[in-house]
Amino acid sequence: MQFNMIINGNKVDAEDHFNVYNPATEEIIAQCPAATEENLNAAVTAAREAFPAWSKTSDDQRKEKVNALADIISDNMNELAQLITQEQGRPLNGIGFGSFAEVGGSEYWTRCTAELTLPIEIAEETDTHRAEIHRKPLGVVGSITPWNFPLLIAIWHVIPAIRSGNTVVLKPSSFTPLVALRFVELAQEVLPPGVLNIITGEGGMGRLITSHPDIDKIVFTGSTATGKNIMKNASDSLKRLTLELGGNDAAIILPDIDVKENASAIFEAAFINNGQTCAALKRLYVHEDIYEEMCEELTIIANTVTVANGMEEGAQLGPIQNRAQFELVRELVDDAKSSGARILTGGDAPEGIGYFYPVTLVADISDGTRLVDEEPFGPVLPIIKYSDVEDALQRANDNPNGLGGSVWSGNPAQALELAKRLECGTAWINNHASLSPNVPFGGVKQSGVGVEFSTHGLKEFTSIQSIVIPK
Ligand code: NDP
Repeated sequence: MQFNMIINGNKVDAEDHFNVYNPATEEIIAQCPAATEENLNAAVTAAREAFPAWSKTSDDQRKEKVNALADIISDNMNELAQLITQEQGRPLNGIGFGSFAEVGGSEYWTRCTAELTLPIEIAEETDTHRAEIHRKPLGVVGSITPWNFPLLIAIWHVIPAIRSGNTVVLKPSSFTPLVALRFVELAQEVLPPGVLNIITGEGGMGRLITSHPDIDKIVFTGSTATGKNIMKNASDSLKRLTLELGGNDAAIILPDIDVKENASAIFEAAFINNGQTCAALKRLYVHEDIYEEMCEELTIIANTVTVANGMEEGAQLGPIQNRAQFELVRELVDDAKSSGARILTGGDAPEGIGYFYPVTLVADISDGTRLVDEEPFGPVLPIIKYSDVEDALQRANDNPNGLGGSVWSGNPAQALELAKRLECGTAWINNHASLSPNVPFGGVKQSGVGVEFSTHGLKEFTSIQSIVIPK
């Protein structure tokens, strides 16, 4: 398969190409253009030239266009889902969130974002003047996306940007560029040329985008290390930034919880997308009174899960997306083993083709081991015993990340008081990792800058102009 970039509404190839692999088979599934700096400049110029007309379209016109994009996603559901499974590895209908759910979620997010508006606000009204707050689009937005949800995260970036009147240059992860390339190609049926452009390339292209003098804002989802690089590179032109970075979310399970009733929800929150989810549950703090019961219930569930090629009927979880991530997961589990932790299930990668790693539960482990302190971003969950809830809370917060967190209890009032004390951007009660287009989502501490979703997220693609009008 040969894919093209889209610049100013046209399909554009490049002289050099890079391979895209299926993580289940390790086979090359496509070749993608390796963009040059000239390609990037052409895309930025196209976006810049499209901006004046696009930013002047009415709110209703942009709403209509965004809804038309949602129709396109819906009409091409099958093709887009297959592309996700082939390049990302996730089963079409996997546990929690298969590829079809990602495409369905993309359509839903697009429709909900179409409904958001940023009306003029009155800041002050006196006898002599009225001060109004207007929201204006920023200009050209550079979007850089990761490999874990290759369509949905592109939608989270692109749709609010164009909904609020900006134009976009999108660069997907070089591990998973295909579904984004196809979406942007389809989107040209609806959008004027230059409003949404896409370029592909391996390492180096991201840096060129984040330091490009004619890009006004960067929206990025990915690792904290890359987020820090982006902040540095973007500083010369003082770009606006939304950074959605890594998480190491803790869940605190209080002793009054019904273990059997809640174990599946806890399992799904940890293993959604094979654990390759920024806000997945990654550290499970369980009270000593119910610790063994929780370990047993989670092990029973884990042992029913079918890990296989995502295109196969019955596959519930697929491979890890890429070799480097696979090696990191293996390293962290091996380190846990050598520190004396108890492997409840999994823990050894099978020989053979594909980056398959079994669902792995690790007990008798605590803070200070790499598997607890670092983000594994794979199918492994450390289960940590605690006896004092204040100590558990302190350990949950003792991490540089602050994306999500949760408290699980039969007493919602008590859970709420604890949830308020978690240092994270989103706290759930008896739930984890469930996102909504109407609820702001973003990290505190080193998990990010700014929020996505809802009008709060939309505002990040605009600047305020205060207009003071005499009476
Ligand atoms: P990265 O942060 O390196 O990559 C994410 C995106 O950023 C890709 O499009 C990548 O492009 C691009 N990029 C890489 N370097 C730069 C740079 N200097 N400037 C601008 N853009 C850049 O994530 P990885 O894929 O390497 O994954 C590493 C870790 O990140 C994982 O182990 C996981 O912990 C975390 N992660 C978190 C995610 C989240 O949702 N919060 C999602 C994915 C990963 P290219 O692919 O071409 O290098």
